[in-house]
Amino acid sequence: MSPDLPFPSYLEQKRQLTQWKKTNPHYKAVHSQVTQDCVKRLHNTWERFKSKKFGFPRFKKYGRYQSFLFPQFKDNPINNGFIKLPKIGEVQINQHRPIPDGFKVKGVRIVARARGTIWYAVVTIQCDVKVPAPLPFGRGIGVDIGLESFLVTSDNFRVEPARFFRDWQSRLKVLQRQASRKKKKSKNWEKAQLGVARLNHQIANIRKNFHYSTSHQLCDQADMIFVEDINFKMTARGFLGKQMLDGGFGQFRDLLSWVCWKRGKYFAQVDHKYTSQICPECNAHTGKKGLNERVHNCPECGYKTTRDHASGRVILNRGLEQVRLDKSETKESGNGVLSGVLCLDKCRSRNANLRELEARTLSR
Ligand SMILES: [Zn+2]
Repeated sequence: MSPDLPFPSYLEQKRQLTQWKKTNPHYKAVHSQVTQDCVKRLHNTWERFKSKKFGFPRFKKYGRYQSFLFPQFKDNPINNGFIKLPKIGEVQINQHRPIPDGFKVKGVRIVARARGTIWYAVVTIQCDVKVPAPLPFGRGIGVDIGLESFLVTSDNFRVEPARFFRDWQSRLKVLQRQASRKKKKSKNWEKAQLGVARLNHQIANIRKNFHYSTSHQLCDQADMIFVEDINFKMTARGFLGKQMLDGGFGQFRDLLSWVCWKRGKYFAQVDHKYTSQICPECNAHTGKKGLNERVHNCPECGYKTTRDHASGRVILNRGLEQVRLDKSETKESGNGVLSGVLCLDKCRSRNANLRELEARTLSR
C-alpha cells in the first residue's frame, strides 16, 4: 500500500465487507452485524491510536479475539433459561436476574474467558428514563487507598489488603512451571495452559468480589465519598508495581463510583497532590514523609495519628471544599449529619483487632 493513500473510513471498510464475503465464503457463517462490529472495533482502535499517538492496534491471532457483539435485537432473545442468538441458535444460560419491566434488550456481548472454556453473555438493557446524578448531601468520608492497608477512611475505618495474588501465587507458580515443561501445542501443554488460565480467572473474580463488597461497605457509612485522582497505572510502574497491580486500585475506584451511583451516594475525586504532607487539623505543611514513616505528627498543632488516616482526612477536607465551592447544586440532608455512623460502628466492631495494630503503630 502506498503511504499517501488516505486512511479508509469505517463506512468504506464496511462496504468492503461484502466483497470479502464473496472471496472468503466462510465469513458468511458469522452474523453480518457481528462482522460489522468487528470492523468498527478495529476502526475505533485506529482512531484512538491516531489521536493519542500510542497503543498501536495489535493483530488478533487465533484465541486472542475474546468477545463479539450482537448490537441489535428485534425482540427479547432471553426465554426460560435460553438465549436465542442469530446464526447460532438457542443456547442454555445461567440467567442471574430477570430483565426488569419496562426494559428492552439492546445488545448482547458474548465473552470468552479461560481459553474459551468459560463463556458469558453480557446483556445490555435500555429504558427511557433519565436518572439524575446524585447530588452532594449529608455526611462525607475521605478514602485513602494504599498498600499497608487497602484503604483507610477519614473516620479511621480500615480495610486490610486481601492478598489474593500472593496467597494464590504459589499455586499459580506450580501450575506455570508445569505448563512450561510441556511440549508446546501438545495436548498436555493445552491442559496445563488451561489450568493457569482458570486460576487467573478465579483470582480476578475473587478480587472483583472483594472490591464490590468493600464499595458497599463504604456506601453504608456515608452519603458522600471522596477519593484521590491518582493515576494508578503510572504508580504501578514503580518498584511497588506488583503489589499495586495486585490490589487492582483502578478497578476498585471505578466500581466504587458505579456502586455509589447505583445507591444514590455522591462520589467525587479530589486532587491527590501532597495529601500525605498536610495536617488535616491545621493545614500546615509537615514536609515529605518517607515511605516507611507511618505516623503523622504535626509540629504546629501536635495532632498525632497514623499517616493514612491523616491523608484520609485531608481528602475529606478537600472534597468538602469542592462541594462548598459549587454550592448551587446541593441537596438538603435527609436524616441529619449522623447518617452512616451506626453502620460505621457495625463495620468497625467486625474488625476490632485492627485497633490494636493501629495502637501499636502509634506508640512506636
Ligand atoms: Zn497540625
